[in-house]
Order: sequence, then structure tokens, then C-alpha cells
Amino acid sequence: MTQVYERVALIGLGLIAGSMALAMRRAGLAGEIVGTARSPETRAIAAELGLCDRIVATNAEAVEGADLVVLCVPVGVMGAVAIEIAPHLAPGCTVSDVGSVKGAVIAAVGPHLPAGVHFVPAHPLAGTEHSGPRSGFAELFDNRWCLLVPIEGSDDAAVARLGRLWRGIGANVDVMEADHHDLVLAVTSHTPHLIAYTMVGVADDLRRVTDSEVIKYSAAGFRDFTRIAASDPTMWRDVFLTNKDATLEILGRFTEELFALQRAIRKGDGQHLFEYFTRTRAIRRSIIEAGQDTDAPDFGRNPKKI
Ligand code: NAP
Repeated sequence: MTQVYERVALIGLGLIAGSMALAMRRAGLAGEIVGTARSPETRAIAAELGLCDRIVATNAEAVEGADLVVLCVPVGVMGAVAIEIAPHLAPGCTVSDVGSVKGAVIAAVGPHLPAGVHFVPAHPLAGTEHSGPRSGFAELFDNRWCLLVPIEGSDDAAVARLGRLWRGIGANVDVMEADHHDLVLAVTSHTPHLIAYTMVGVADDLRRVTDSEVIKYSAAGFRDFTRIAASDPTMWRDVFLTNKDATLEILGRFTEELFALQRAIRKGDGQHLFEYFTRTRAIRRSIIEAGQDTDAPDFGRNPKKI
């Protein structure tokens, strides 16, 4: 694989940045990788792991001379980081991000970037419930999607170049418009996380009644929910604060369906339940056929599973 950027700056050194650094190294995509994170502890761990060629103490220092800057911080601080780095960006460089919400990040970051800098937002659809620099691994993005979400007036060459980087990292690349991205992700990721958080919260309330039975006899369905509900609280708080409209829209539809199923159970309407579950089973089959999961039972225990 050939080098795509001379110097890549990673702001934030958690799961996503760590995995990007390892995957870029694997394929020789960057001449130099410079990284930084908020706390000295994270920077020290990243240095110990050898994630980057250079670790620096400030966001401003990290972006100097970089031809690609990737914001790998929680969605809620993207705007503040953009203000910090803006005066230090090299003319003609590309600024991208990996945030799980796109409309809010574009609104928070875009206005602060100087003319001549290319802003190409992106979102790799891959992750685990783990966070921090130790959780990264080079294969995280292999055969997953990375959505590029160019803004109005984005430079085609800058978009194509970032696409080359993500393909080199191992991902399949698609281009999507921001509002559409936020609605699709509300269906496929954000609302399912909220439902998992709720179900685990309900079980936790019940545990106070049934003592430790919920943990002891934890069945596969509940265990899968607990894996999702173990995801980083900061990241997910920011997702719901910034993808408010799309999440509320999908949550409204979810509630209607839930009431219909509740009614079917109350009325003993087995046909409704059977037809509903048959329809949903087919969706699982199409995800497996699309190569986005395997049907091997792993009870949510494989740490590298998306
Ligand atoms: P993470 O493991 O918690 O890492 C976040 C990193 O950001 C940490 O290194 C943190 O530093 C750093 N940070 C926070 N505020 C900062 C600031 N003001 N300046 C510099 N660094 C700062 O998070 P992650 O899972 O990699 O997620 C990062 C982004 O990727 C988020 O926007 C998230 O929405 C998106 N994303 C996540 C997933 C997923 O499944 N996890 C999937 C796709 C996209 P400290 O450690 O020092 O606090």
C-alpha cells in the first residue's frame, strides 16, 4: 500500500484513534503519525504502546505541519477543539473527524476552519463497548463501512484522498449527506443503544427485588444488552444530545410498535407475534449475507466483535 498523507495528526487517543493508528501503520498509509490526548495519563499509555511516531502535549502542537488532522474526541467537544487548532492548521490541509453524529459536528466545527482548509467529515461504522488507548486494534475497521459526509463546497480531490486512506485502513467507503446519515444511524445504532441502556436499567431495578438472580441466570438476550449498555457514557450522552431530532423520531416509532406488540400479547394474538418475528428474522439473515456479521454464537463475548 502506498502512503496517502505525509503527516497525520490524531486528536484524541482512544479506541477509534488507536485503531486508526495501528491500521495506518499496518498499511504504511502515513509518513508520520502525531497524536495527542487531553490527559497526561492517556498520552503516556499511547507512548508506551507506541501508537504514534510522536506524542505531543497540546492540540495546537499536534496539527502543525499535518496534511491530515482527524478529530477523534467525543462529539460534544469537537467545536472547542476546532477553535483551538484553527490558527495552527497548515494551508491546504484536510480536517476530518470520526464523530458518530454528523449534522451537529459540521455545525460545531465548520465555521471555525480557515479558508483553504478542506473539511471532510467522516464516520467509521465500527466500534466496541471498550474505550481508551488500550482498546484499539488494527482490524477494527476491516470490511466495515466508513461514511464520508462532505459539506457544501467540499473539494472532490480532498474527499477522494480521504477515501483512499479509509480503504487502506480496511474499510468500505460510501458518501452520504449529513441529515440522512443522522437518521440512518438513529435507526441502526443510536436508538438500539438507548433501548439496551433502558433494558439493563430495568433489570437493575428488578435486581434489587430478586437479589442477584438477574446476574446469575443472565440469558443470552440480556447479556447482549449489557455488552451494548457498557459503552462509554460520555460518548453516548453526547450522541443523544446532538442527534436529538432523529433519535426522538425513531423512538416515537419504536414506542408505537412496542404498544402494538404489547396489545398482541395481552389479546393472545399469536398470529401477529409470529408474523412480526418472522419478518425480523429475515433482517438478521440479510445482515449475515451482507458480510456484516457471522451467525456463529458467541454470546457477545468476542471483544473484537462490532
Ligand atoms: P475514547 O476511547 O473515549 O477516546 C476519546 C479520546 O478523546 C480520549 O483519548 C480523550 O483523552 C480525548 N479527548 C477528550 N477531550 C479532548 C480534548 N478536549 N482534547 C484532546 N483530546 C480529548 O472514545 P472513542 O470510542 O475513540 O470515540 C471517539 C469518537 O469516535 C467519538 O466522537 C465517537 O462518537 C466516535 N465513534 C466511536 C465509536 C465507538 O464505538 N466507540 C464508533 C464510531 C465512532 P483522555 O483519555 O485524556 O480523556
